Amino acid sequence: MNLENKICIVTGAARGIGATIARRFVASGAKVAIADLNLDTAQETAAELTKAGPGQAMGIAMNVTDEDAVNAGVQAVVDNWGGIDVLVSNAGIQIVHELQDFPFEDWKKLLSVHLDGAFLTTKACLPHMYKAGSGSIILMGSVHSKEASPLKSAYVTAKHGLLGLGRVIAKEGAAHGVRANVICPGFVKTPLVEKQIPEQAAELGISEEEVVNRIMLGGTVDQEFTTVEDVAEIAHLFAAFPTNALTGQSMVVSHGWFME
Ligand code: NAD
Repeated sequence: MNLENKICIVTGAARGIGATIARRFVASGAKVAIADLNLDTAQETAAELTKAGPGQAMGIAMNVTDEDAVNAGVQAVVDNWGGIDVLVSNAGIQIVHELQDFPFEDWKKLLSVHLDGAFLTTKACLPHMYKAGSGSIILMGSVHSKEASPLKSAYVTAKHGLLGLGRVIAKEGAAHGVRANVICPGFVKTPLVEKQIPEQAAELGISEEEVVNRIMLGGTVDQEFTTVEDVAEIAHLFAAFPTNALTGQSMVVSHGWFME
């Protein structure tokens, strides 16, 4: 299975997990739009990936919470390359507080990036996929789609919600050859996680080492972080799988932190 000439959009792909998914897709021959907040950084990542080949990438500016920006970005990809085969809704943020102290503005901001972002990008891509009679939508969940942790009420709520959205897309999309699946990674050392280590240490009154060894990796089978490459490989499987046999699913990739 490869993604030769498949047209893909990966949101939040200027860095972190999204950038590595985009790299994996380009290595598989895809044309990948790197959609991120800042056009310059999206274009820098895209130039790097195009150089690596054999596929190609382009950067587009997109705030996934802004309906006009999402529609314009998706249209730009269609105008350039002629359609959309794969959407990876990956853009995400993390904000940690105890529930009783969680600022309402932060709650709304986090839910908006994860849930509005997945909804708006899916809504914008579906007509193009339906027209073509095929497509793959991949939502970036988390072990926190299935498990709760203190301090992460908004994140856990959003990530659980994405499982529901993915299942509805799978049911509505089936008649049009569109499938939807959710990836649920454990802790991956990206800027999103690096930022949480001192924040959680301060909130919980423990050392940063304890946050890593006990909170983040304590439940894994081998005390190891999941890597960006591990997650990208699952994204590639969901993107390239050719039939509706694999739809409405969620796959956990977490060194056994969560087993089902
Ligand atoms: P990251 O912070 O390294 O990268 C996130 C990217 O999303 C950045 O490039 C950022 O600019 C972009 N982004 C943020 N808000 C955006 C918006 N409104 N519109 C467009 N782009 C936006 O994070 P990451 O660790 O690579 O996380 C990527 C996804 O994976 C997120 O959905 C996250 O919840 C999920 N995830 C991460 C981990 C982990 O341990 N790192 C684990 C499970 C799930």
